[in-house]
Amino acid sequence: MRKPLVMGNWKLNGTKESVTALVNALVEPANNAANVEVAVCAPAIFIGLVEQLANGSALQYGSEDCDVHNSGAFTGENSPVMIKEFGCKYAIVGHSERRAYHNETNEVVAAKFQAAQNADLVPVLCIGESLEQFEAGQTADVCKTQLKAVIDLCGIESFEKAVIAYEPIWAIGTGKTATPEIAQNVHSQIRAYLASFNADVAAKVQILYGGSCNAKTAPELFKQPDIDGGLVGGASLKPADFSAIIEAAK
Ligand code: PEP
Repeated sequence: MRKPLVMGNWKLNGTKESVTALVNALVEPANNAANVEVAVCAPAIFIGLVEQLANGSALQYGSEDCDVHNSGAFTGENSPVMIKEFGCKYAIVGHSERRAYHNETNEVVAAKFQAAQNADLVPVLCIGESLEQFEAGQTADVCKTQLKAVIDLCGIESFEKAVIAYEPIWAIGTGKTATPEIAQNVHSQIRAYLASFNADVAAKVQILYGGSCNAKTAPELFKQPDIDGGLVGGASLKPADFSAIIEAAK
């Protein structure tokens, strides 16, 4: 039985004040339940603050990215070991915004996935197709190629300690959520592809949906058998909306 996970991705947003308000809301008992895990991925500069505020609560947290190196002359980067030191459980790798704006290839993303695991972080591997690829019927192939880069470098067993987030790029920040049918279809294809390497790993791995997931769309999405929660951008910045999404996952 896979436990649902609802994870916020704050992207480049927040102030000390808004982060404090958000985390204080998320550690409230109403947002905690034994049958759902809640996590937030924060800009690196706020992770220390999240650590202090989440201390002793069930709220998990992570980084939005990580470097492949643990230290060295890599100005501006955040290493997996540093991220771990601040109590993070997760590191998002391969978000489409990183792939698009920082030219991260499948191979770079796989190296980040490996570096995160080497530091005892759980990588949240983002995969998904562009609108053009969606319209050309290439969704499954794109997702498989993105997964294969990680399988080639880290092995299928690496997904025993990882999370996958299927995020169609055309749905991210656009208000166009994939329908539950479209999302379930892709999630089941992702699971079937993993099962072709190892059925046990495929059955256990959490596959989150991301892309304009909100209080309205989450309930139907989360009812789908292969959707194990959500990676939530915009709606994770509003405590009431994020709480409603958590409620849908319970
Ligand atoms: C994301 O950035 O991972 C995301 C899913 O964003 P949004 O929910 O805003 O579409």
